[in-house]
Amino acid sequence: SIYGDYIKSVIRTVPDWPQPGVNFRDITPLLQNSAAFRKLVDSFVHRYQEMDIDAVAAIDARGFIVGAPLAYELGCSFVPVRKKGKLPFRTISETYTLEYGEAEVELHSDAFREGDRILVVDDLIATGGTMLAAAKLITRSGGQVVETATIVDLPDLGGAQRIREAGYSVFAVCS
Ligand code: 5GP
Repeated sequence: SIYGDYIKSVIRTVPDWPQPGVNFRDITPLLQNSAAFRKLVDSFVHRYQEMDIDAVAAIDARGFIVGAPLAYELGCSFVPVRKKGKLPFRTISETYTLEYGEAEVELHSDAFREGDRILVVDDLIATGGTMLAAAKLITRSGGQVVETATIVDLPDLGGAQRIREAGYSVFAVCS
């Protein structure tokens, strides 16, 4: 994307966090920088403003940071995709496997209408497990996943490829 290199330059890599050997991509310097945060949101707005998006489904918790201003700018619904046990009403859930153990994402069963055009957003795609589980959950709920969008993709981990192989489109601001 046009601001990709710039956005990349304001993301910090924290070595050995949350465990030894992991390079954590920290987006807080991006969020602190108002010009960068604006360019980030604008990158998504520009891409999706003519795509008739009915709802932005954002993944708990860093997906919310970009998903909320995006839904506001697109003039569409905001739908939280949350970690297990956080949503109070009737839910449907999708379980997926992590390196160690399992995780689960949930959606309210009345979050959107059958056939609605949904954009799924998160901050980062690593293995792709989280984004893919969210996309599958939305498909199972009757939503039409227009695209899955992320700030950062880590291509060496093959997550975006895995999501595409499952039949979903992937957009990343930077890699
Ligand atoms: P995946 O399911 O693709 O393996 O991991 C992606 C999920 O874990 C996203 O929800 C993302 O917020 C979080 N995550 C994993 N690694 C990182 C990282 O290095 N930086 C950030 N900001 N989030 C990460």
